[in-house]
Amino acid sequence: MMSLRVCADPPLTRFDAIATAKESPRRERLLEFKELVASEYAAYQNACPDLAPMPLLPLDAQARGDLLHCYQGETQPLEHLKALIRAMQAPEQIAVCQYCALNAPGTFDHYLPESLYPQFSVYALNLMPCCGDCNQKRSTAWRNSQGERRHVHLYSDVIDQGVQVLFAEISVAETPLATFRLELGAVHTHPFYQLLRRHFTQLGLLKRYQDASFARLNEHHRTIHVLGQYSGRKGCLRVLREQLAEDRRVLGPHNWKVALLQAVLETPEFIQFALDTSPSRENEKDGT
Ligand SMILES: [Zn+2]
Repeated sequence: MMSLRVCADPPLTRFDAIATAKESPRRERLLEFKELVASEYAAYQNACPDLAPMPLLPLDAQARGDLLHCYQGETQPLEHLKALIRAMQAPEQIAVCQYCALNAPGTFDHYLPESLYPQFSVYALNLMPCCGDCNQKRSTAWRNSQGERRHVHLYSDVIDQGVQVLFAEISVAETPLATFRLELGAVHTHPFYQLLRRHFTQLGLLKRYQDASFARLNEHHRTIHVLGQYSGRKGCLRVLREQLAEDRRVLGPHNWKVALLQAVLETPEFIQFALDTSPSRENEKDGT
């Protein structure tokens, strides 16, 4: 998980452009909201990332519908905003959903759900590029029963990259199988890591990583088998350690691929299995 860069687009100008692109009389009604939207954007920015106390606005059905239409109705200024948000990000950050690090981020999640906070439906700071699976799992459940936030705000939470808390374990009983766990240890009282734990729980990440690890383990199996033939066990381990260091640097310590590769290196039974066993054609197909 890596932070996303804040889009430099002036948010009120963008709201104005989207409202202006609407047909009358919605256009005029939305433009009357400009002052309210400006003060709401300022309140959001000031509160970030601690958005849990953000109050709900008493909006009537028409006002809610108009504000939601800013996002749900297609307009050129909205498409430009989405493109700008994506263009701001480093290639490796936008290649994959930063909520899960599993899938391509083909959708935008409203961090404060648009159904509760329609005034932020086109506010760049509230729009997180993310995958469909995460978007669906987030739904409107953005706080728990204690009022605590359930998900990392990718623009404004300071994502501590110093402590590894995600680990994997590989068993080689019949077919190699990876399981994942969070171990907060000494940082279990640290607010960021408590948030990270809620984030993992709400998005079902440990199970999703387990499911994704079948294909990834097949890739490691094939790599180890081929490297072992040319470089021997020691040469193979050296390459994997270099790969792990590079993955840690690029992906950060909270990434499932880092945890899995570390587990590969710490599981001599898997290394031996991969050196001794030729990857099946089926595995090759799955892993590519
Ligand atoms: Zn995702």
